[in-house]
Amino acid sequence: MEFETLAIHDGQAPEPRTGAVSVPIYQTSTYEQDGIGRPRLGYDYSRSINPTRQALESALALVENGKHGLAFASGVAATVGALQVLKPGDQILAGNDSYGGTYRVFERILRPWGVDTRYGDASDTGRFAEGITPATRLIWIETPTNPLLKLADIAALAKLANQHHLLLVVDNTFASPYLQQPLNLGAHAVVHSTTKYLGGHSDVVGGAFITSDQAVYETVKYYQNAAGAVPGPWDSWLVLRGLKTLKVRMCEQTASAMHLAQVLEKHPSVNRVYYPGLPSHPQHELAKRQMRGFGGMISFELKGGFPAVERLVSRLKLFVLAESLGGVESLLCYPPRMTHAALSPEERARRGIHDNLVRLSVGLENASDLEADLVNALKE
Ligand SMILES: *Cc1c(COP(=O)(O)O)cnc(C)c1O
Repeated sequence: MEFETLAIHDGQAPEPRTGAVSVPIYQTSTYEQDGIGRPRLGYDYSRSINPTRQALESALALVENGKHGLAFASGVAATVGALQVLKPGDQILAGNDSYGGTYRVFERILRPWGVDTRYGDASDTGRFAEGITPATRLIWIETPTNPLLKLADIAALAKLANQHHLLLVVDNTFASPYLQQPLNLGAHAVVHSTTKYLGGHSDVVGGAFITSDQAVYETVKYYQNAAGAVPGPWDSWLVLRGLKTLKVRMCEQTASAMHLAQVLEKHPSVNRVYYPGLPSHPQHELAKRQMRGFGGMISFELKGGFPAVERLVSRLKLFVLAESLGGVESLLCYPPRMTHAALSPEERARRGIHDNLVRLSVGLENASDLEADLVNALKE
């Protein structure tokens, strides 16, 4: 069955007692037991097991074509969950433009516990591989990255991981499982911030972990229950609802983003556009191979530097100045002062995040309305 069919039907059969077609929100912390030590159908306590969360977990596994899905209370909780496969002394090899919160987990949570992270440019598989040491256990990448939308070759990295007996984990938040399925390309596990495209409506914070590896699943599942960063039934339901429309949202947002990227690339006030769908993108060919579409995120640089960014932001009427992405409403983010403010100016410059850089998350508004808003705001 195709993606959109699975996203609507799996784990979401009508509820047997009443026939309710939408999975009920089992807003309960506990369950009556049939006798001592005899929880009905295994339901004993909602941190461990909840039917609404189970429906979400099964749907998450399906859309990523994995055997097992686990839902978490946030994307970073899912990230910490995935890293439970490591022990003190192990090393991570990570792409050098991971999400800031992931970098903080590596540096401030794992490093003090004896798990070291080395960084490299994951868009260059050969050079990235030089970062592998005898202590490396896990490769962590995002593709496309934030905010410069650089790609990593998932199939090549999976091959590399297998040669060295490492796990390859892909944070697939920016692409979404509709546009890219890392497990099909050989990755061992996938992480999502469901806050973004999977939820899709800027109304819930959540995370997901998906794998087909039984041992990895059992470790992360044990952690999920033991550490308890689980989403509540209501939040699980919101992500489940978002998932059902993921395909139509991604198709529409991708088409609008492609159009806007072309408009921006031709605009005299714009210096440079970063969008994997443009032939000018250095990894356009890889994007065509690895992704089903090029996504709803665009970054671009303005000729007039920071003053031009301020003028743009003050004139835009539809693009909302906000962190986050992947919702129905278009957002504009200024990475140097928002998502990447924690980096020193030198570190930002080293990564190519200049003071004239703007990031857009293209929503579901009419593409011509979005174009008119941008073009009007970009006038000299
Ligand atoms: C937002 C985000 C996260 C963190 O997710 P939260 O839901 O905010 O905890 C992780 N990775 C990427 C790529 C993100 O954009």
